[in-house]
Amino acid sequence: MVIIGALVSRSLLPTTLVGVSMWAQREGVGLFNAIKMDVVESPGSGPEHIAVIALCILLLDMVIYWQHRFFHTIPILWRFHKMHHADSHVDTTTGLRFHPVEIAISLAIKAAAVVLFGIPAVAIVIFEVALNGFALFNHANIRLPQKWDEKLSWLLITQRVHRIHHSQDKAESNSNFGFSVSCWDRLFNSFTPRAHYSDETLPVGQKDVPARKENTGVLALLLQPFNEHSSK
Ligand SMILES: [Zn+2]
Repeated sequence: MVIIGALVSRSLLPTTLVGVSMWAQREGVGLFNAIKMDVVESPGSGPEHIAVIALCILLLDMVIYWQHRFFHTIPILWRFHKMHHADSHVDTTTGLRFHPVEIAISLAIKAAAVVLFGIPAVAIVIFEVALNGFALFNHANIRLPQKWDEKLSWLLITQRVHRIHHSQDKAESNSNFGFSVSCWDRLFNSFTPRAHYSDETLPVGQKDVPARKENTGVLALLLQPFNEHSSK
């Protein structure tokens, strides 16, 4: 699935998001390019430059939060995202299990955000590395002591908090949409700090897509969004 996803994103945007960013900068398109900030025109290491990069990374992260939320609430998008949630064991590989159509839509949304805000290339590189790193981190099958977890989840989406997002309970899985920092879920009122079940006993996955052999082959995963049950 990773290989297919990589092929899809490379063939759709041959120049990558960094290429889109450089085009926007050249043409003066996008918020930060339009206001002609020195920091974007002549990148350096001054405090304004670092502030713009940090702001752009936060903006991209908020865009991804809303993208994830829409993938849950818009039925046609949920069909594709459900393949990610059908994993009956949440572990690091779950963080790599995304349908190529979801990857393509996400790429288009990110490209639109890059053009709209005029996001500098360096912010995209940092964000993409962080996003992928956080996806592997928060899907990992590890557990911090509850006390530590609760403290850390004030800032970050921990494994326990993200597992709540993979709960079979719809109300729980329609929360905790963040990938890295937990502030978006708190700000937009979608944070669930504790699930109904304990982390050890929390049922994850999708009841109507059990982990049987016929549901887990590459072709079955690619075709899963087109199954009758997939909009549920
Ligand atoms: Zn999700």
